[in-house]
Amino acid sequence: MITKTNHEEIQNYLNDASNFHGTCEKVFIPETENEVAEILKKANEKKINVTVCGNRTGLTGSSIPQTGWLISTEKLNRIVEINRNEKYAVVEPAIILSDLQEEVTSQDLYYPPDPTETNCFIGGNVATNSSGAKSFKYGPTRDYVLGLKIILPNGEKLTIQRGLFFANGNKAQIISDEKNIYNFEIPDCNMPQTKHAAGYFCKPNMDLIDLFIGSEGTLGIITEIKLKLLDKPENILSCVVFFDSETDALSFLTEVRNKSLKSKKEKQTVKIGARGLEFFDYYSLKFMSKDFSKIPESAKAAIWFEQEINSENEETVLNEWLKLIEEFNADVESAWIAANEKDRLEFKDFRHTISLKVVDYVAQQKITKTATDTAVPHNHFIEFYKCAKQFPETAGIDYIVYGHFGDSHIHLNMLPKNDKELKKAKEIYGRICELAVSMGGTISAEHGIGKLKRNYLLKMYGEKNIIKMARLKKVLDPNCILCINNIFDEKYLNEA
Ligand SMILES: Cc1cc2nc3c(=O)[nH]c(=O)nc-3n(C[C@H](O)[C@H](O)[C@H](O)COP(=O)(O)OP(=O)(O)OC[C@H]3O[C@@H](n4cnc5c(N)ncnc54)[C@H](O)[C@@H]3O)c2cc1C
Repeated sequence: MITKTNHEEIQNYLNDASNFHGTCEKVFIPETENEVAEILKKANEKKINVTVCGNRTGLTGSSIPQTGWLISTEKLNRIVEINRNEKYAVVEPAIILSDLQEEVTSQDLYYPPDPTETNCFIGGNVATNSSGAKSFKYGPTRDYVLGLKIILPNGEKLTIQRGLFFANGNKAQIISDEKNIYNFEIPDCNMPQTKHAAGYFCKPNMDLIDLFIGSEGTLGIITEIKLKLLDKPENILSCVVFFDSETDALSFLTEVRNKSLKSKKEKQTVKIGARGLEFFDYYSLKFMSKDFSKIPESAKAAIWFEQEINSENEETVLNEWLKLIEEFNADVESAWIAANEKDRLEFKDFRHTISLKVVDYVAQQKITKTATDTAVPHNHFIEFYKCAKQFPETAGIDYIVYGHFGDSHIHLNMLPKNDKELKKAKEIYGRICELAVSMGGTISAEHGIGKLKRNYLLKMYGEKNIIKMARLKKVLDPNCILCINNIFDEKYLNEA
């Protein structure tokens, strides 16, 4: 196992894509689960804080240590098994998402969760319950996790399979591989009925594997993951449509969402049934105009959609889309319609580029990212979107909005130019979170809470529930060593 203590070498591990900076004494790079267990056992005995990181593409500072030791999972990167017949994969946590996607595709299989950044590790995806464009049809990472091997904070092992261990109401019990029993209570947080990745998953009678998915490294280190796979779709229709009016774009979006949800429910294959439905506002298009010269000058908004098709339905489905595009006053001539896989990947890159440009912007400005990850129930979405935009608009702060609008999930990224604007942007961020919560939504639909969004989670669930989350953590981590300050402030561990 490699251990790094040299100041220069450690620096690479001390910031993530949100531009959150940290510090630590040592970085461990274990190659086996036993090595992970040994490090945690020692840290637990000595009460040394340990943070675990994946590929540090996170946007909340959750993989960044503030003290103690860091465990980088980078060498736990083996594909253990891909089972074509039973459609599952068993992998170690540091498999890069795009590598896994390529590998399963080559075997005519399909792994749907697709965060826009595919350079992340599967372990990071599970720990944050990541999702992406295709989550509109296929749901988040959680829905594909069949089993986990975890090293608990004291170094014990836990093997947990979906469908085997359930809470009894709010009472839960897990038994480690060493046969030690942990009893705890599931907090009674009322989780939003939206795409959601904020804080521990808490539901009466829940499958206890769900507690570890999205727990941001705070309950244990994942060393192996069993993932459900699907059959690879035959072909994909991919299209970016530009609108000269934002109102038309939003009406188109609502229509497509409703039609797609209906087709999914009715298992219809010859009608509109998007698997991804992504939106770009006017400022987003301007922000990218130098990188993509084919964006029409007059465009006020764009929508990128994908639908799975086959040789039998492709013509009917394409015609349905063309009819709808015209009905909502978009220009079919200026739409980008993928003629092949290369075009499709280019459209995917179009979506990725905007996120990357924001990451570059915050790095250049030397500030942390101020971007919402909020989702609200569909019936409130248009109202939410319009209200949210008004805040930076009125304050005169540059911003762009894009995101997974099919899931009523927006990334409103503020682009402050100085400290004064940054302060204002943070205040606006808080107001948008409050608005989302007041509409029954979530402050984080996919990025998690980490160290940057704890105060907003506190507002969302209230102190009583945050203390319950801390109490739950303390049963599994009594010495409070693992991923401290993720999800809730350290002080709640003292109060729990
Ligand atoms: C340009 C860009 C676009 C993005 N788009 C999306 C998007 O569309 N959807 C989305 O969901 N996210 C998105 N993200 C955020 C990020 O890619 C995801 O959160 C991803 O899941 C993080 O994976 P990672 O390997 O980089 O994990 P890290 O950032 O290293 O860690 C994230 C969290 O996981 C924990 N962790 C990592 N490995 C383990 C393990 N083995 N066991 C236990 N805990 C572990 C860490 O402690 C930390 O809490 C985007 C990021 C960027 C930069």
